[in-house]
This record gives sequence, structure tokens and C-alpha cells, in this order.
Amino acid sequence: MMNKWEGIVIRSIPYGESNSIVTLYTREAGKVTAMARGAKKPRSKLVAVTQLFTYGSFLIRKGRGMGTLEQGEQINSMRFIREDLEAMAYTSYIVEIVDRLTEENERRQGVYTLLYEALNAINEHYDPEAISLFVEWKMLVVGGIHPILHECANCHATEGEFAFSFRAIGFICHRCFHTDKYSVRITPNQLKLIRTFATVPISSVGDLTLKKETKTFLKRIVRTVYDEQLGVYFKTRAFLDQLETTPNLLPIKRAPKEE
Ligand SMILES: [Zn+2]
Repeated sequence: MMNKWEGIVIRSIPYGESNSIVTLYTREAGKVTAMARGAKKPRSKLVAVTQLFTYGSFLIRKGRGMGTLEQGEQINSMRFIREDLEAMAYTSYIVEIVDRLTEENERRQGVYTLLYEALNAINEHYDPEAISLFVEWKMLVVGGIHPILHECANCHATEGEFAFSFRAIGFICHRCFHTDKYSVRITPNQLKLIRTFATVPISSVGDLTLKKETKTFLKRIVRTVYDEQLGVYFKTRAFLDQLETTPNLLPIKRAPKEE
């Protein structure tokens, strides 16, 4: 059966002398892996469409087992992502999260939209570190973790001062701080940001300019939840950490301003 699907290449690995095995996250069918025969031959029409991060339209023959990528048409090569080290590093992490937390042939509209918006935003030079926070917070639910972010996880209060509790996996109010002595205090602004990352589409927020310390702090919270609750090891994080510790590798692009 032939299918025409729109999607993004989230993994592309060489197979044999001249083939590639590509994993796409498609709008119509979710995650799909297909064999791209001859894709490594320089003159193959499949060279461009099997590149990592490519957004395109793909013609896939599907039988039992792995499908075959017959044809593809590039809609956006995500050129900036491929050329910018920081953008590439964060996008690699984003596609790895999507790949690791989703199953083959399982369609989730929210995941496709998130991935599509994240890559487009980074390709449009939005801060990739802020974009990755949207993906990290939103993909928790896909991994089966439902953080409580709309009220106190313990007493349901919506007013007061708040902390993030790794035990409750969500916010707890000042009346309940005693229930988790390892909770992390957060400011009203940080609370608002976490809610935004978890619930508001990237396309409705636009380019967020955040202080480095704010991003680092919110990243540490969400990654702790991943590590403690899911125990998934993301291999692309090592490269990101390396970039963080050698910031001179990265050009200074923006002057952060924030309330
Ligand atoms: Zn409470």
C-alpha cells in the first residue's frame, strides 16, 4: 500500500553500502521507519529528503514490517539548523526526546505539532534553549508523567507561594512545604514560565528571551523529573552539556532582558 505522508526526519542511519534507514515523525501516521534504497548514492533523488531534520512530503510503500521510502519532496531543509552548532545540538536533543518517548505507528497529533513548531522556530533563529524547554515540559505527558501545575498538588490551593516538588511531581504551596523538604522554591515568574512551557503552543508564544539562569534552573527541574521518573538516557545531552561548559564555542547572539 502506498501512502503519502508529511513529516520530519528524526533519525537517519546508513544501512549497507548505499541505503539509509530513516525514521520520520509524520502528521498522518506518527512515527514511521522506512528503508531508503540507494539514498547514500550521491545522485540519488533520496539524498536531500533523507537528511536529518528535513521537513517534507514522503511516499512510503508499506507492507508487513518496515516500509520503503519510494520518493520524497523537500518542503524545508531546515538549513539554519544544520549550519548553526547550537541550533543543531538542541534540535538533536529535541528529536531524540520525540524518538525515545513515542512508539512506531502510534499517531499523536500533539507530538507532531510540537515537533513541527519547535523545528520551525529554531530554524527561524528563536532561542533553541527556550524551545527545548517547551519540548521537555510538553513531552513529559507523552512519557506518561502528568505534572500538577494548575494548583497545589497536595491541598489544591491556587494562591500562595509555590515550590516544585519532585515527590508530588508538581507545584506545592507554602502551606504544604513540609510535605516535601526537598522541594525547590520557585518565583511567580518561574511558575508562570513552567505553565507556559507545559501548556501553551510555541506558535502562540513567539520568541522568548530569557535569562540564562532562568533557563538553567527550569531545565534542571524538568530534567530531574525525566531522570527520576523515566530513567531515559538521552545521548545528545552529553553534547549539550559540553557546549554549556565551553561557551566560547558559541557566538553571543542576543542580549537577554527579562523582568
Ligand atoms: Zn498546598
